[in-house]
Amino acid sequence: MKKFDFLVIGSGISGLTFALQASKFGEVAIITKKKLFDCNTDLAQGGIAAVLDRHDSIDAHIKDTYKAGSELGKKKVIRTIVEQGSDLIQFLIDIGTKFTTDNKNLDRSIENLSLTREGGHTQKRVVYAADSTGHEIMFALVQACRKNSSIEIFEDHLAIDLITQHHIPQTENFITRITCWGAYVLDEITGEVNIFQAKKTMLATGGAGQVYANSTNPEVATGDGFAIAKLAGSRIANMEFVQFHPTAFYDTEGDSFLVSEALRGEGAVLRLPDGSTFMEKYHKQGSLAPRDVVSRAEEFEMRKRNLKYLLLDATKIPKEKLNSHFPFIKKRCAEKGIDITKEPIPIVPAAHYFCGGILTTEDGCTDIKNLFAAGEVACTGLHGANRLASNSLLESLVVAYRAGNHSSLKNEIEFPEIPEWRIIGDFNENEWIVIANNREIIQKIMQGYVGISRSKRLLKYADSRIWNIYMEINNFYQHNPVRKEVIETRNMVIVAGLIIRSALIRKESRGLHYIIDYPDKDDKNFKKDTII
Ligand SMILES: Cc1cc2nc3c(=O)[nH]c(=O)nc-3n(C[C@H](O)[C@H](O)[C@H](O)COP(=O)(O)OP(=O)(O)OC[C@H]3O[C@@H](n4cnc5c(N)ncnc54)[C@H](O)[C@@H]3O)c2cc1C
Repeated sequence: MKKFDFLVIGSGISGLTFALQASKFGEVAIITKKKLFDCNTDLAQGGIAAVLDRHDSIDAHIKDTYKAGSELGKKKVIRTIVEQGSDLIQFLIDIGTKFTTDNKNLDRSIENLSLTREGGHTQKRVVYAADSTGHEIMFALVQACRKNSSIEIFEDHLAIDLITQHHIPQTENFITRITCWGAYVLDEITGEVNIFQAKKTMLATGGAGQVYANSTNPEVATGDGFAIAKLAGSRIANMEFVQFHPTAFYDTEGDSFLVSEALRGEGAVLRLPDGSTFMEKYHKQGSLAPRDVVSRAEEFEMRKRNLKYLLLDATKIPKEKLNSHFPFIKKRCAEKGIDITKEPIPIVPAAHYFCGGILTTEDGCTDIKNLFAAGEVACTGLHGANRLASNSLLESLVVAYRAGNHSSLKNEIEFPEIPEWRIIGDFNENEWIVIANNREIIQKIMQGYVGISRSKRLLKYADSRIWNIYMEINNFYQHNPVRKEVIETRNMVIVAGLIIRSALIRKESRGLHYIIDYPDKDDKNFKKDTII
């Protein structure tokens, strides 16, 4: 058993920010399932929203966020998060983040930061570091954590389950509120399951893009945090609001990546595989239509014509501009054998961001005592039904920072006797097919039936198929020693179920949830969170 004051599960912006703050009060363990940089944060290209321009205001940022979220966001939460934006940008600068500046003399103080404007923002308010904002932030946070003697880092460590009274039967009768005392953790190198006992646990496990066949998220994004919090008894909100990005690179091996919308801004055009254009049928701005309109049109055309991918043609953009403005995309496409100056890029709409998650306060407190959650795995009420660009890094940062300074961090905690992880006999190789096949099947069902345009009937088909798969996987999980693939696939099927059930509950179309049976917004009955 390893004992710490704080256990942080996940090494993205929210986990590392919490760790730095909590380290002021005690010893911290950060566990992460692969390497430190394997996370959504590292891939963020665009930037982080904060009110810094003299023409901008907190009220304007709140208004834009609420509007983008289709009026489902919580205004009080939005205000709290938006108000702390500039302080937290300063925090990132203080730990060494090098944001892009307006001036040439490299004075990186906050008033010199270059600001850009993104879709849905009425002002210039996005701070960035060239086209690698997330990586730059990660670099600074990782350095700060590595230098901190109160923080111990465990890579290749995967949280299997939270330790609550469900694992400790004798506590069930006399502790009324579900309480967390750490997590059971699989050491991927030794194959052992260890107890990480902690007074406070932070779930910062990010999103679940991998639940869909096409995703911009890395392979670690299997939604573990949503699933283990739900299994421990936490409420989960708004899982139907999944944001799809209209242009992710289509790769037969599943190694997708985001192809920036800025390419369309510079004149790239969406085409069918036969070279003809189609967006003009859907929106007067054609290929420059808003993100959700483009994603929906793409899905419609792909379904109608049974296509695996569409094309994004950037060949009319001058070569020099492609070289200077899009070096990352040009390089990644070249690695896949595509010269974007001469040939179109195969693209698909792909699962990108989860607005819903574990219900938390703006301090990251959950339903479960001693358990915090922050970042993409949490649902604070900032985004409502859709996310305003660059607000997710902001939310992760602010909420994790606030959680890391929460007054309850100083409380003493009594621990029950925690049992060892139950060891189950030999691994049943013969039935491995249950795990090997089902991951892909879950992804295909979700992409096809629970994608951008939904229908009651498709959701019900998906529900019954996902339920059957859950039964198979759960049975395998209960009768075999734990392995990463088993844990992840079980978590994925649980998350798939959460998305489908939430989508079935919301009988209206709002924000990212579009269902053809109920094409309009219904404020009277559904201007509220979907909680399951
Ligand atoms: C391609 C891309 C571009 C984006 N661009 C932007 C942008 O420009 N601006 C913006 O605001 N947002 C952007 N986003 C969204 C934003 O990056 C994420 O929402 C944010 O980084 C989430 O941070 P996080 O700390 O919650 O999760 P992550 O950064 O994803 O970190 C999660 C961590 O948890 C670990 N983990 C997961 N499960 C387990 C487990 N069971 N045990 C142990 N560890 C586990 C993972 O390995 C990872 O380390 C983008 C996302 C993507 C994918």
